[in-house]
Amino acid sequence: AKNAPNAHWVFYKPDMAEQIVQRRELEQELREAIKQNQLFLLYQPRYDISLQKITSLEALVRWQHPTHGLFMPDQFIPLAEETGIIIPLTDWVLTTACREVMAKSADLSLSVNISPVEFKASDIVFRVKSILADTGFDPSRLELEVTENATLSKPENTLKIMQQLKSFGVKLLMDDFGTGYASLNYLRSFPFDGIKLDKSFIMAMDDSDSAKNIVEKIIGLGKDFNLEVTAEGVETLSQLQQLEEFECDIAQGYFISHPTTLDKIELNQNFKNKK
Ligand code: C2E
Ligand code: CA
Ligand code: CA
Ligand code: CA
Repeated sequence: AKNAPNAHWVFYKPDMAEQIVQRRELEQELREAIKQNQLFLLYQPRYDISLQKITSLEALVRWQHPTHGLFMPDQFIPLAEETGIIIPLTDWVLTTACREVMAKSADLSLSVNISPVEFKASDIVFRVKSILADTGFDPSRLELEVTENATLSKPENTLKIMQQLKSFGVKLLMDDFGTGYASLNYLRSFPFDGIKLDKSFIMAMDDSDSAKNIVEKIIGLGKDFNLEVTAEGVETLSQLQQLEEFECDIAQGYFISHPTTLDKIELNQNFKNKK
């Protein structure tokens, strides 16, 4: 035990150095991955409960690494955010998704995730605008999803960026609603068009009446604020039925569809009869 600190030092030092090297490598590989088309998009349907129809698709990025296999976003988005790679990455996602979704159907809306870090910089307005112009995608069919973290620092700046994006018709959704600090009142200070109720609330509904109650209250409050309410993580028919009763607007989750390739998405399905 007397030698423990020393032993730790000897044990951890090469490991940390190795980690730094691996990180550098991954960073370089991620830059290349964007250019070499190793990224691809899966789409998860957003189902309008009262229209009984898929009205929108959320783009979710994946990285097919040539030797390490498939990387999920949690494994490379944080690195992209820390290194600034998130800028070309988001540009790639936006451009690709606009083109692919337009080719699938002219009636579909598209949701794209924007990282809080890039949402704070005003060039996001220019980037979105020029990608819309390049692709010819209808701005009123584009929904940008940001977590409430995006609004926490420099609120005046964030508000200006949001207003500019909205001025050319883009919609704004608050992602993972309920997991952070924002109150509905705070939400009113920013021009969001909708909230996406985090999946943890929906998952708790099946075995907890208080969770059901919270979901109902949030949907009701969302309506009072004139916000479109999406429930994330809908995995069962009973959750969907409950959400319909609460007059939730949009359902998203494995019960409707896992994130999947565009060609596998059937737009005209009725999920009420689904087993
Ligand atoms: P998110 O935006 O909250 O996306 C929802 C995540 O929940 C997705 O994970 C999706 O596959 C998963 N999910 C959907 N329905 C269900 C369900 O019924 N049950 C469960 N258990 N999970 C469900 P994914 O694709 O791994 O993405 C994770 C996160 O990575 C996303 O969370 C988003 O924050 C981020 N992300 C994904 N694509 C992009 C992107 O293009 N740009 C940026 N900046 N972030 C992205
Ligand atoms: Ca999202
Ligand atoms: Ca979410
Ligand atoms: Ca998330």
